[in-house]
Amino acid sequence: MSAVAVLAGGVGAARFLDGLVQVVAPQDVTAIVNVGDDMEWAGLHIAPDLDTVMYTLSGLVNPEMGWGVANDGRRVLDRLKSLGGPAWFTIGDDDLATHLYRTQRLREGAPLSTITAELCERVGIECRVTPVTDDRLRTVVQTPEGELAFQDYFVRRRAADPVHALRFDGAEAARPAPGLIEAVEQAEAIVIAPSNPFLSIDPLLAVPGVREAVTASDAPVVAISPIIGGAAVKGPAAEILDSLGHDVSALGVARLYDGLADVFILDEQDADLVGQIEAETSLRCTATQTLMSGPAEKRALAQAALAEASA
Ligand code: GDP
Ligand code: CA
Repeated sequence: MSAVAVLAGGVGAARFLDGLVQVVAPQDVTAIVNVGDDMEWAGLHIAPDLDTVMYTLSGLVNPEMGWGVANDGRRVLDRLKSLGGPAWFTIGDDDLATHLYRTQRLREGAPLSTITAELCERVGIECRVTPVTDDRLRTVVQTPEGELAFQDYFVRRRAADPVHALRFDGAEAARPAPGLIEAVEQAEAIVIAPSNPFLSIDPLLAVPGVREAVTASDAPVVAISPIIGGAAVKGPAAEILDSLGHDVSALGVARLYDGLADVFILDEQDADLVGQIEAETSLRCTATQTLMSGPAEKRALAQAALAEASA
């Protein structure tokens, strides 16, 4: 197996990628990362999913949280708070340097994909990490309280509002980042990482050309369930499945990926769903351990995904 393209959100995807680069040459891996969560904070461009992938693959990540920089300080945030600034979003002191660098380069006119490549290179990442688009794309969440900007919903209001619908502002006019469609076309396997299907994968597919490239590819498309035993490992995936009227299970996720993926990997805990998924969808389905609790589990899941792709 050589070239692999991965559709990626934040923590789940980053952990999967960390395993993948141990089992295939990193140079053959392209991570196509969600930017629907991006926002302006204190005048800076924050790209949470790109940062989660970058911090994880470089080993800088806070291992307990799965995002942010390990042992990071809070001096800037605390000071900002005492000044009455926007302290509801956690930005660590080391983390801040990433946002300063990114924002400065954007002001100079550099595209986000170029800046991401620069940052990744400087922290020693050998695989290719690209935002899905260099254009502005923002997830907007429709709730009983009205429309909320993504981080208002997710961080400020702690993902507590029922989600009626989602839209991806700017997606229609967004163009895939340079080289991204080629990476999908040349991939010998395409993996949909264990990410939130609504908040992380849908915004990628909303960029014109991305879904089409995945569908047109002859390469096997392997999706990994972010839902284990009816619950998300973290985040609001289960609540959103429920509030949008889907089955809160790996079956509910499999139905979403029917027609897009060829293979669906669910957790061994959910092995009893394999028969129903194969009967009801066009997916080939297989059960394995999908909880990536450490390096060995990450590698094993990456290996399982590649094995399914070449089966
Ligand atoms: P994030 O909220 O930006 O981290 O975005 P993601 O969509 O990538 O991550 C959240 C999703 O990843 C959740 O639905 C989790 O259930 C899933 N996830 C996180 N870690 C794991 C894991 O170890 N195994 C599996 N199967 N899913 C995971
Ligand atoms: Ca995210």
